Amino acid sequence: MIDHTLITILEKVSDPEIPVLSIMDMGVVRSAQWKENKVEVSITPTYSGCPAMDVLAEDIKAAFNEKGIISEVKLVLAPAWTTDWITARGRKALEDYGIAAPLDAEADKEALLGNKKIIKCPQCGSTETKMISQFGSTACKALFQCETCQEPFDYFKCLK
Ligand SMILES: [Zn+2]
Repeated sequence: MIDHTLITILEKVSDPEIPVLSIMDMGVVRSAQWKENKVEVSITPTYSGCPAMDVLAEDIKAAFNEKGIISEVKLVLAPAWTTDWITARGRKALEDYGIAAPLDAEADKEALLGNKKIIKCPQCGSTETKMISQFGSTACKALFQCETCQEPFDYFKCLK
């Protein structure tokens, strides 16, 4: 379990890729606990090749530092992060931000291969969408376009 005070601090740290989403909602924080005079935070990266994870570790340290707390951030790679760890509030925040929330890994693969139209447009909710590029604004996202409202949007990939 995570100490409530620590949660409050961690909730203020946002995902480097998606400023509206806290890392708690993203489900990347595995644990946070006091070890003598410092806090040890374990995080599981959403996407192993994602350079944003270095930024994230720095952001976490800075957030604790602001409260006068020394922290250490550890990466936990197993079990791998899954989209199930995103909270309901997190999914809503993603959609409000105009990013299609990730599907589960299997569905994700089908969608990125263009086999199935299952990515919902965050603007109008239509599933008539097509992939423009495997890589969107960052390597962790793919660029899609809605064929109903014509809006391009990012899809947060869950490929590992
Ligand atoms: Zn649309």
